[in-house]
This record gives sequence, structure tokens and C-alpha cells, in this order.
Amino acid sequence: MALSDFQPVIGLEVHAQLLTQSKIFCGCSTAFGAPPNHHTCPVCLGMPGVLPVLNEKVVEHAVRVGLALGCRIRPVSIWARKNYFYPDLPKGYQISQYDQPICEDGQLRIEVAGAERAIRIRRVHMEEDAGKSVHDPGGGESLVDLNRAGVPLLEIVSEPDLRSSEEAAEYLRTMRDVLVYLGANDGNLEEGSFRCDANVSVMRKGAAELGTRAELKNINSFRFVQKAIDYEIARQVEVIEAGGKVVQETRLYDPQRGETRSMRGKEEAHDYRYFPEPDLPPVRVSEALLEKVRASLPELPRARVQRLQERYGLSAADARTLCGDRALADWFEAGAPKVKDPKKLANWMVGDLLRQINESGAPLSAVKFTAAQLASLVAAVEQGTISGAAGKDVLAEMFRSGRDPQEIVAEKGLAQVSDVSAMEQVLDELLARNAGEVEKYRAGKKQVLGFLMGQAMKAMKGKGNPQLLNELLRKKLGEP
Ligand SMILES: [Zn+2]
Repeated sequence: MALSDFQPVIGLEVHAQLLTQSKIFCGCSTAFGAPPNHHTCPVCLGMPGVLPVLNEKVVEHAVRVGLALGCRIRPVSIWARKNYFYPDLPKGYQISQYDQPICEDGQLRIEVAGAERAIRIRRVHMEEDAGKSVHDPGGGESLVDLNRAGVPLLEIVSEPDLRSSEEAAEYLRTMRDVLVYLGANDGNLEEGSFRCDANVSVMRKGAAELGTRAELKNINSFRFVQKAIDYEIARQVEVIEAGGKVVQETRLYDPQRGETRSMRGKEEAHDYRYFPEPDLPPVRVSEALLEKVRASLPELPRARVQRLQERYGLSAADARTLCGDRALADWFEAGAPKVKDPKKLANWMVGDLLRQINESGAPLSAVKFTAAQLASLVAAVEQGTISGAAGKDVLAEMFRSGRDPQEIVAEKGLAQVSDVSAMEQVLDELLARNAGEVEKYRAGKKQVLGFLMGQAMKAMKGKGNPQLLNELLRKKLGEP
């Protein structure tokens, strides 16, 4: 098999749940984790005679995402009925958008192995989510939970511009970061609020025509997306090399077995019989709404990563880690003016702060102290008021109690002595006691300095600012 003779071609469809309090066409809550069928009403249960009423927050989110992706926003877009039968779809149709989606023709810039690529976005449209079938393994019954029915989704469809599974995974990561930054999505793959389908085909290198594609459904982790696509690429190449033809079909990825398998073929391919939704007027996006949303667009993650590097001298890796979470980057920027070297603050955040957060399992928002308090701790280490090691202890205590660093330093007696006259007194006594060693030093035995330094630290009971103490000692020994 010669994988390298083939060029994979991948397009992705992302389904992102929009962060609204209520569902798209009724007032039911969108909160995750309620008892089954708890968040339902006649509208989202699909009772006859009810009418959907559009949640305008959904349109605002769609416009925000569209603008961030550089899309054209359609002033008038149309709702459409997508008809199919499935137990978790009580109406027998899903309200979606079809030939006139709200956003079209955008792009998402991604970076893979140091090279930047613009992946074109074909369309972004709004739709309602379906419910969920729960297959009960014990009783042999299938149950339906309609809490998710009517939760607003944004479907974001890329052009088939992706050329490897790495690019696909990076596109998804970047897209998720953008949506989370915009406050449109919580980025939670485990709870299914960010899902993806992948269209995968292969073509011989240099061929003009795209190969037949298979659609991989509902892949819910970045790791799986890469594995599923790699498996599918290898499978298709094998089929072609063996003289066969790839058939157009929908395939399901099985993470346990690490393979994709056929779900339905083209013969069974759905004809959704789309038609304009008669119960909803067209969606109109006014100039005023466009302006309002445009004015409220935040700086996007990629731009922020770049700015943090340029403005604060951070490494690309640190800037990326901080910008991986908008709140974390906000913390950094709130604290940066309060320290001398913002790179030090970044080190503390990327290292100790994130480690503590990961160990506690609670998010940044649950941390009991503020960005300013963390910055004041880092500044204290910078100024030599406390040692780096003591700083780590103080941070651990801040995590536990949320108390102010200054208070902890005072209470635990961690402050380093930076009082020059006190240090000079200690050093004078020390040198007088060790006249012989001083002689040796002056005669050229430079390693004596380490011994004297150790003695000096001991005399200061470990609280002397080592840098300052070292400077004073050298001066007393006659160094320039
Ligand atoms: Zn409802």
C-alpha cells in the first residue's frame, strides 16, 4: 500500500451548541444534566398546533460567529424544514436552514507545523438540536430524552480544504477556541456541545478530480478525529489499490476498535425534502444589529497570542497556553502592569498556577484569590522580599485559604532580610571570625567564597536575600 501516492481531502462540519439560557424556539432551559424530559414543553415536544418563537440571542450568536470568521452575513435568511423520521425527533422534522443560511464564505486561519493556512468556510447556519435516544443495555429497551430537543445549534461547514488528519484536528481546536472566546459555545466535547462530522476522500497525487467521499459521523474528541480520519484514509487507499471503488456512505467511528464501519449506504441516503418553514418568518439582520455585534467582537485567540508575544516578550508556547483560556489571558494582562518582568508572571501562571488548578480540578473562576494578588506575590519574589521557594509555599497557601500573599508572608515570617546595614554587620562579624579563610581567598582560592556565603546565609537564618548578600560579601572581600 502506498499511502504517500495519495492526497487526502477533508471537509468538516462542526455542530456547536450555542450558549443561551433558553432553547431556540421555546422558553425551556438548555441546562445540561437535568433528569430526562425535565426541560420540555409542548413546543419542543412537537405537539400539534404549537408555534415556534425565535430566541433572538441565537441570531446574535450566529452573527457574532459569522463576523469573526469573516463571513458575509445575509440580511434575510430563511428557515427550512428538514424532514426525517427518528424516535428522538418528535415533530418528524428539524427546523434548520438550507439554501439561504445566515452566513456564507468565511475562513479560519490555522497553523500546522509552523505554516499558516486559511481554511475556507462554506456556510454557517442555525438549527435546533434533536433529543437523545438512550439505549438501556439491561432492559433491552430504548428510551428517549427530549431535554436536548430544541437546544440551539450552529452548524459550521468548511470547504474540503484540509489535507491531513493533523490539519483537521488543528482546525477543530482553533474553531473551538474561537467559539469559546466569542462566548458562543462552552467547548465541552464530553457533554456533546461541540461535535463534528468529517467528509473524507483520497485522490491520487496530481489527479484533477476529487475521490468519492465517506462521511464520518459524530466524532467527539480531538484524539478520535485524528484516528478516525487516519483509519479512513488508509481504508480508502487500500480499497483503491485493490482495484475497488470507494462508495459514498456514512460511517461511524468506533473508538474501542479504532475503526470506522458502514452505517448507511447511498441507496439509503436521506432525501430530507427540505422546504421553507411556514411557521417562522425569515430572519432579518438589521444594520443596527450588525454594528452592535461588530463593536462587541473580542480580540480572537490567534491575534491575542501574537500580541502577548510582541507586547510582553512571552514565548510562543506561554502565550498560547495563556490564550487557551480567555479568563487566564485576562488574568495575565490584569497582573502584568504590576510586575517588573511580565515573563516571570507568565512563568508562574503557566507553571505553578495551572498545576494547582489542574490538581484541584476546579476552574480558574473557582480560585479564591485575584490576578492582582498573584501579581503582588510575583513582584515580591522579583524584589527579593521573599525567595522563589517561599513564593511557591505562599501560592499553595493562597490556594487553600484565599488569603492575601502579604499577610501569609508576614504570618509565616518568610520575608527575606534585605536590610543592608543588618547584613553588613553579620558579614563583618563573619569575616573577622574567619580571617584565615579570607586570607586564602585573597591568595586566589576562589572556592572559599561558597563556604563564606553558606556561613553568611546560616547566620542570617536563611532569610537573607541571597543575591544582595552575595553582592555585599564580594564587595567586602575586595571584588570590584
Ligand atoms: Zn420547550
